[in-house]
Amino acid sequence: MNSLSPIHVRLILLVVLISTVSVGWSASSAAKPLGPAPGELVLHESEIGRSNDSALVKVSIARSAGTNGIALSFEGGVSLILPARGLVLTNLAASNIMLGIVSNRLSVSGTSMTSATLILKPRDGLFRCQGIRYRGDVIAQVSGQQVSVINRIEIEEYLRGVLPHEVNPAWHPEALKAQAIAARSYVLSRASENRSFAHDVDNTVSSQVYKGTLGEKPSTDKAVEETRGLVLMHNGKIAVGFFHASCGGATEDSGNVWSTTLPYLKGKHSPWCAGTPHHSWVALIPASEAAQLLGLTGSVASIEVRGWTPTQRVRSLTVRSGTGQVRVLSGADFRRALGINRVKSMLFTPRVRGPWVQLVGRGWGHGVGMCQWCASRMAQQGMEAAQILAHFYHTAAILPWRIVWPIN
Ligand SMILES: [Zn+2]
Repeated sequence: MNSLSPIHVRLILLVVLISTVSVGWSASSAAKPLGPAPGELVLHESEIGRSNDSALVKVSIARSAGTNGIALSFEGGVSLILPARGLVLTNLAASNIMLGIVSNRLSVSGTSMTSATLILKPRDGLFRCQGIRYRGDVIAQVSGQQVSVINRIEIEEYLRGVLPHEVNPAWHPEALKAQAIAARSYVLSRASENRSFAHDVDNTVSSQVYKGTLGEKPSTDKAVEETRGLVLMHNGKIAVGFFHASCGGATEDSGNVWSTTLPYLKGKHSPWCAGTPHHSWVALIPASEAAQLLGLTGSVASIEVRGWTPTQRVRSLTVRSGTGQVRVLSGADFRRALGINRVKSMLFTPRVRGPWVQLVGRGWGHGVGMCQWCASRMAQQGMEAAQILAHFYHTAAILPWRIVWPIN
């Protein structure tokens, strides 16, 4: 497919000239922009990720602003492809590449590109980014003064890189299977809204933690394989498989945490995580620091809860400072302001004790969807993945994603 035309030879010479040296490339080596030319070879659509035979998800894995570049390495060689038409710019042997910005354009090892987006397709399906090995392709993008690296990867391979970081791989196999289905549903519900080259999810707790092949385990690989293709579905749509570490005794309606009420994300009494890590916690925060984080002067003098959700999560509260300032805010905003890892959930009782704000709480996370620690205990007690999911995602069915996705 990739026989060489004269124009190809010219492009290869240009790129190889600057890419066979693995270190020391700099912005100063900018050449004239590479761009499409008539008569180039074009990849079949399936090779640039538009196939309906598999679900590809796009995960933002690295971002760099300013003059800092992002280093990538392709031990088995790489093809540089323009996404709009699947045009192969060039094929390189084993290469280290530095992505950056030259003259407001995306640059590959100092050579600026005519396109703001470029696909880098590893010949052996593997690449390294900032030391971590990934499967799939790279979508490199420039937006403003930021370079982004997006990993476009088949969903089942993606999940192998998520599960070991979201749950303990030593947990019961049925809990791992429930997690695989929830995580697959979460990412596909996000991806189905987005068919461009922009990323669907990031690689942090804001979406799901993902670290490529780093940390893959046989137990979590098996859970992904045994649930291959299965998602939660509600009314013909893939359900958003929200989950959290610990519910503290009850999950929460999505509408009480965010603005959207989803019928399958209802608060449920869930006693299984009692006695597990994070079920109970106490946070002590200096009252002066709390005031500063909340935008008040002096120290926090009192905190009064104005409203609770039915599961006893703080809906809103009033904070008064010793200097007479008053701030009314939601429980979610209060948690964000003081730090989501310090105020682990909205299921807390606040009190001011001298120079300290004391929060006595339960659970870790937003409380919506599946409680991971409950799921672990439910599996230990003999419940299967389908039963665990039926508890946390009220009225959602478990079905193959292929019947509804992608929506084209
Ligand atoms: Zn729980």
